[in-house]
Amino acid sequence: MKSGLIDRWVSEPVRRLKAYHVADASGMVKLDAMENPYTWPAPLVGEWFERLRHVAINRYPSPGAEELKTELRRYAGMAEDAPVLLGNGSDELIQVIAMAVNGPGRTILAPEPTFVMYRMIAEVLGFRFVGVPLRAGDFALDVEATIRAIAEHQPAVVFLACPNNPTGNLFDRPAVERILAAAPGLVVIDEAYFPFAGETWLHDLYRHENVVVMQTLSKAGLAGLRVGMLFGPAEWLEEFDKVRLPYNINVLSQASASFILKHADLLREQTTQICADREALYERLRELPGTEVWPSRANFLLFRAGKGARAVFEGLKEQGVLIKLLDGGHPLLRDCLRVTVGTPGENDRFIAALRRVLGSA
Ligand SMILES: *Cc1c(COP(=O)(O)O)cnc(C)c1O
Repeated sequence: MKSGLIDRWVSEPVRRLKAYHVADASGMVKLDAMENPYTWPAPLVGEWFERLRHVAINRYPSPGAEELKTELRRYAGMAEDAPVLLGNGSDELIQVIAMAVNGPGRTILAPEPTFVMYRMIAEVLGFRFVGVPLRAGDFALDVEATIRAIAEHQPAVVFLACPNNPTGNLFDRPAVERILAAAPGLVVIDEAYFPFAGETWLHDLYRHENVVVMQTLSKAGLAGLRVGMLFGPAEWLEEFDKVRLPYNINVLSQASASFILKHADLLREQTTQICADREALYERLRELPGTEVWPSRANFLLFRAGKGARAVFEGLKEQGVLIKLLDGGHPLLRDCLRVTVGTPGENDRFIAALRRVLGSA
């Protein structure tokens, strides 16, 4: 724009940013975004449609989403009166938390490589973002370096993804405990992959005044609904609730999530299947010459290809298989790629395509 309006008015952090890129996946085997590949049995879909028939889309959603909250507490194994805040996906909760603690000169800290939204949201809002490198090799927390960085930067928020994305590992509990004790501000434990890891900090919540736990229905099989939840001390959640837009969970999402959570066993069966298939896929990747693959507690695997990662990514794409290229995102992810565990058939197609790309078919 010639007038210079953009340079004058759009904030510098936003201008410097690259928009979050979502690859076009039409017609592809889609293994790039940690989605659950399974649908529901036809009778259940029928019941769901019947439920949606009665949804009043001319009305604003229930602002408190009380029915959904009740189902979510039960699903998460929390007490009936446990404070919970809902977000349009946990992405929105990250944004709400950051907005609530924002202020001049403030810092957000996270180990890296990790979920890119922490850095992106921090930078858009004008925070300083400090990324503390994970240990090379096993991507464990570097506790000493993290505690030093916390002492130096006094972060308003520390984000810990447990399990971590894109590395797939679950941080050691004692290591996390030490970070909770060292943090002067809030620590958000992001359990987006709880359905696969089965380990949670939810039951340790109120031992710490500065800890909240975030989960989501996305990876369990409802990515399209955009429902994230935050558990923690009422005092924190009451402040965050002021920042949340009043109708952030739409009527269709509220009704659909409330419905399917009454059939949560189906989601659990699907995640159990995905975990078993993850182990099989891990073994097949391990057998490929020149390929390094890391163990995972989530529904994806991180691997380093024996050939340039970009060539592998493009080669797979030409064969109709979309995964995630991570090379270039962080020095520890050199030549790395991330593949979501799909159906057994999709996993077969991925492995066959990868073998052809690597010349070992
Ligand atoms: C996928 C992911 C999220 C985002 O989940 P939504 O609820 O779909 O917004 C949050 N944190 C981590 C670590 C993730 O990998």
